[in-house]
Amino acid sequence: MNQPSSLRELSCADDYDPNSMPVDKARALIRQFLAPVRAIERVHVRQALGRVLGADVISPLDVPGHDNSAMDGYAVRFADIATDRETTLDRIGESFAGKPAKVRVGAGQAVRIFTGAVMPQGADTVVMQERAREDDGRVLVAPGAVSKAGQNRRFAGEDLKQGQAVFAAGQRIRPAELGMLASLGVNEVSVYRRLRVAFFSTGDELRSIGTPLAAGEIYDSNRYTIYGMLARLDCEMLDMGVVPDVPDELERAFAAAAATADVVITSGGVSVGEADFVKQLLDKLGEVLFWKIAMKPGRPLAYGRIGDAHFFGLPGNPVSVMVTFYEFVRDALRVLQGERDVAPLPMLKVTLGAPIRKMPGRTEFQRGILSPGSDGRWSVRTTGDQGSGILSSMSRANCFIVLPADCGNVDAGAEVEVQLLEGLV
Ligand code: AMP
Ligand code: MG
Repeated sequence: MNQPSSLRELSCADDYDPNSMPVDKARALIRQFLAPVRAIERVHVRQALGRVLGADVISPLDVPGHDNSAMDGYAVRFADIATDRETTLDRIGESFAGKPAKVRVGAGQAVRIFTGAVMPQGADTVVMQERAREDDGRVLVAPGAVSKAGQNRRFAGEDLKQGQAVFAAGQRIRPAELGMLASLGVNEVSVYRRLRVAFFSTGDELRSIGTPLAAGEIYDSNRYTIYGMLARLDCEMLDMGVVPDVPDELERAFAAAAATADVVITSGGVSVGEADFVKQLLDKLGEVLFWKIAMKPGRPLAYGRIGDAHFFGLPGNPVSVMVTFYEFVRDALRVLQGERDVAPLPMLKVTLGAPIRKMPGRTEFQRGILSPGSDGRWSVRTTGDQGSGILSSMSRANCFIVLPADCGNVDAGAEVEVQLLEGLV
């Protein structure tokens, strides 16, 4: 498809059906309208954790800077070590990490060396200390203690070479990247500015925590799950509270949010019955599409622009909010943050531990618990009740079980796909 210039143009495409929008298609449509932030700021390395690099990082030095030992042992000349008998060498010095030996290893000589210490001149190989012993200034090396020249030696630049592009712009900084930057002596990096995300909840029945509930009222939990999911993405957040289903108030909130933020996220008010007046309002303020996604949970979803801001109108049900955020919003925000090569959550195939009932027609994201069996194999089962209001199912889950639209009931023992909700980095 050619890039459409406006959402309205897109909604005229032949195969466009807002009443049955496949998950993949919705993702792809949204992707076409995402232009990453460009502004860059310089931050200290530690502040870069979770941020996205705004410029390539070129290595200013070799890492490691010198050939050094990978073991505690003895630096020797490989040619000196016999394979069929013990070799006796003279111990002529010591090389500690940070304190190199000042001697040169000649034929028949060895230097005591420790992990990370600079290889002394003349030596090419390290004998690990378990394969040698010392006796009165001499080192006795076991037969065949090393099998090739260069063994147990790390080479200068083997991790990174001076002048090499270490990271490209668009790389998100995780703990490993922080460590690598530090190993290069880099203390400041360029990152894209934080994405500003405004969010509010809509609904007359909602109260914020800290206020008592009247009959029929509930606490607003979506603003907290959304806050948590945005915080994990290191966004700058504008929490705009609860807005009642009153057109004037909603209009003011949408306009204020769009005026200050790159992205506006709301929950509630997009389901059939509620959508009509929100739709009229948003038609006035911007260009917004209302979709019924062929998924469960999370059927209603609004996407578009209000002023210059991207808009995601998530459903009101607490589980639907999280599922639609993870399946649509999260990757969109990553693209907007400038991250390169944003791929959807990986899908892993595992065995289903207990049967699942499902009607064909929609992609289902059931909350799953993935755990190892006594045989060490991992299998998954659902958390039980899958109602879209059962937020405890998200809390108990460590994965989504993703059941494709066309699949029906699934038997125990079948292979299913899961997306992990937990990650190390
Ligand atoms: P709606 O999409 O506005 O029709 O809301 C669907 C369901 O989600 C209703 O039961 C709402 O009460 C509930 N709901 C909507 N917003 C929230 C929220 N912020 N926190 C908790 N529940 C909500
Ligand atoms: Mg509502």
